Amino acid sequence: MTQVTDDWDAIVVGGGVAGLVAARELATTGLRTVVLEAWASPGGVVGRHEVDGLTLDAGAESFATRGGAVADLAGELGLTARVVSPEPYGAWVRLSGGAGPLPRTGLLGIPAHPFAADVRRTIGWSGSLRAALDRLLPAAHGIRPEGEVTTLGDLVRARMGRRVLDRLVRPVVAGVHAAEPESIAADAVAPGLVASTRAEGALSLAVRALRANAPAGSAVHSIEGGLHTLVDALVDDLRAHGGELRCEVPVTAVHRAAGAARFRVEAGGRTLTALRLVVATPHATDLLTDVAPELAGLHTDPGADIVLATLVLDAPELDGHPRGTGVLVAKDVPEVTAKALTHATAKWGWLARLAGPGRHVVRLSYGRAGEGAPAVPEDLDGLTDVALRDASSILGVPLDRDRLRDSARVTWRQGLPVPSAAHRETVRRVRDAVSEVPGLAVVGAWVSGNGLASVVPDARRVAAALAETPASTRTNR
Ligand SMILES: Cc1cc2nc3c(=O)[nH]c(=O)nc-3n(C[C@H](O)[C@H](O)[C@H](O)COP(=O)(O)OP(=O)(O)OC[C@H]3O[C@@H](n4cnc5c(N)ncnc54)[C@H](O)[C@@H]3O)c2cc1C
Repeated sequence: MTQVTDDWDAIVVGGGVAGLVAARELATTGLRTVVLEAWASPGGVVGRHEVDGLTLDAGAESFATRGGAVADLAGELGLTARVVSPEPYGAWVRLSGGAGPLPRTGLLGIPAHPFAADVRRTIGWSGSLRAALDRLLPAAHGIRPEGEVTTLGDLVRARMGRRVLDRLVRPVVAGVHAAEPESIAADAVAPGLVASTRAEGALSLAVRALRANAPAGSAVHSIEGGLHTLVDALVDDLRAHGGELRCEVPVTAVHRAAGAARFRVEAGGRTLTALRLVVATPHATDLLTDVAPELAGLHTDPGADIVLATLVLDAPELDGHPRGTGVLVAKDVPEVTAKALTHATAKWGWLARLAGPGRHVVRLSYGRAGEGAPAVPEDLDGLTDVALRDASSILGVPLDRDRLRDSARVTWRQGLPVPSAAHRETVRRVRDAVSEVPGLAVVGAWVSGNGLASVVPDARRVAAALAETPASTRTNR
């Protein structure tokens, strides 16, 4: 079979947000850039689906405001006027003993004000008293020596005690990162938290300082119409700069002959070549072992599989948002299988207006760290029954099939790598090995950390550096 050859200045493998951001960065410098995406549509975890006639986010639905990188990108794409804050109803936690509010002025559940009424309601007076001890402890208490990793679990337990850890932080971390606080580096999920605790002298003060840096005081924002509209804008801008996106083109192999300048990328029966290659697929080491042999055997933590059940309900009782914008569920609540519930029509005003009074969108999330495949039925009907039962229990409103207008199921595999110390060390070794190969770069949540606030600035930085590197005529190996 004769192979068609396609020559480019830059090839990006993977059209999730990381790949699209990197490709746009390369294309804006004038490099002829193509993105090769395996799926039928771009965006990766920032996907969309239609449920009951509403176009909804099928994966990520908001972005952390920290650092401002996503808002800056949205601005460059002309989306600033559509950036929205969640409604100010607060979020809740469901514990074995009942439900309680999460701190409104917290970070990952860590309270900025241990005696605030919402904090006391969930952890009790004794929990608040213990948490307040944080202010009296030496600044370095709970922080590992330089060069060692301080886990979020160790930091919170040492400074604020078990109640803050188990009743507030653990459910939040399970819901957001599908991980246990003891297995993740504090700085991986809350950049600057450790240094700020040391500088401010207390964890609660560090939380206040980091929150003060969040524009408009809100820790997350999204985009009217859904976060997935960011993907549309990225693709449009990429094309406006001469870049190309090809979907349903899974890349199967990457080579570069010894001494050759161009990478050869095999995809869908074609060979594409380029001087620069960005790999933006999760856990890409296997794809790269031919061009960077040091990557062989280096595997990053794939993280838990997540199943999302979306319910659209006729339920006017939910107009009063009984559990705020959503609920994170502790592990030891036997009557609930979900780890989190987002009341999307309570959280996003634009969606409530679109859905109309009495119609509600509720999304439940399943899959915890170390549990393998989430323990929910494989079929949509079975999952819907579990989700209705969970939503009734979590929201305190009876919700049965009579209320159901439509439902949907989405499974995300390996979408949330656990940012453990071991994972971070593997990433360091991956980046070292990649930096030895001229013209090669890796981006994406598996190397930058989960969430658009980490993915976007990293992909921009890496792609900008790659664009500046003079195209080599020979490799250094
Ligand atoms: C359920 C869920 C909810 C989340 N919610 C939020 C949130 O609200 N806010 C937030 O900031 N973050 C959230 N995250 C995390 C965030 O979505 C991710 O960190 C981010 O979207 C990852 O982007 P990425 O481009 O690195 O990877 P992905 O989105 O995984 O994109 C990788 C792309 O590569 C493609 N690909 C894979 N293999 C190949 C191949 N061989 N050839 C070609 N293409 C290939 C895939 O099809 C995919 O499109 C969530 C994650 C999950 C799983």
